[in-house]
Amino acid sequence: MRTCSRFSGDSRDHPMERPAAGILRERKRLMTMENGPTRRPERSTPPQVVIVGGGFGGLFAARALGRAPVRVTIVDRQNYHLFRPMLYQVATGLLSADEVSEPIRSILRRQKNTDVLMAEVTGVDTQNRRVLMGSDSLSYDYLILATGIHYNYFGHDEWKENAASLTSVGDAAYSWCLRSVAPEWGARREQYQPDTVTR
Ligand SMILES: Cc1cc2nc3c(=O)[nH]c(=O)nc-3n(C[C@H](O)[C@H](O)[C@H](O)COP(=O)(O)OP(=O)(O)OC[C@H]3O[C@@H](n4cnc5c(N)ncnc54)[C@H](O)[C@@H]3O)c2cc1C
Repeated sequence: MRTCSRFSGDSRDHPMERPAAGILRERKRLMTMENGPTRRPERSTPPQVVIVGGGFGGLFAARALGRAPVRVTIVDRQNYHLFRPMLYQVATGLLSADEVSEPIRSILRRQKNTDVLMAEVTGVDTQNRRVLMGSDSLSYDYLILATGIHYNYFGHDEWKENAASLTSVGDAAYSWCLRSVAPEWGARREQYQPDTVTR
């Protein structure tokens, strides 16, 4: 009978037997250790990473973890990623909103370890490691907060009334409407909400 030159014929030496033998040895070692049987078992589920925010920071983090042995859940109040640097073009009518935004789910569709959840995060329970979303919550082992910024009026909140912000599609649509139909730039914001404007 022909035998492989690297296999002596002894089943303990067979390449397929080696892992099993290794496991048996490891089990024996653990059982004979003083505290072997009470040692915590190996974790069977991968750690859960929760990322709050699907902007530049959140997406970059999710992508970096794409091949890591973790479960990733990305939570955003919007179902789309917004490319904010091009909001000026939306505000001036050069681009439409769908040209500067894309569903987070479709950006990350190839990442097998990642789920996308649309929800407003209302707080974090750091004691119990849970992200709070109203009455719902999500547990995490690692938490990444990438919720962006908001405007600073340097202690002059009254400026807000006259200084149009530009951080969302709604802001851009408002600026565009204001520019297109408002008789003057000083028009009051509430009179010119995008959905109430007709050209
Ligand atoms: C008009 C404009 C032009 C810009 N131009 C440039 C430029 O040319 N070059 C440049 O480098 N940078 C530019 N920036 C800045 C750049 O866009 C920001 O630095 C970048 O978007 C910040 O990324 P981020 O991930 O921290 O936050 P963001 O991109 O703001 O994302 C935050 C995400 O968190 C979500 N979120 C927030 N709170 C919650 C919550 N409670 N629950 C659930 N989700 C939440 C939001 O919905 C959002 O999707 C510009 C910004 C603006 C507004």
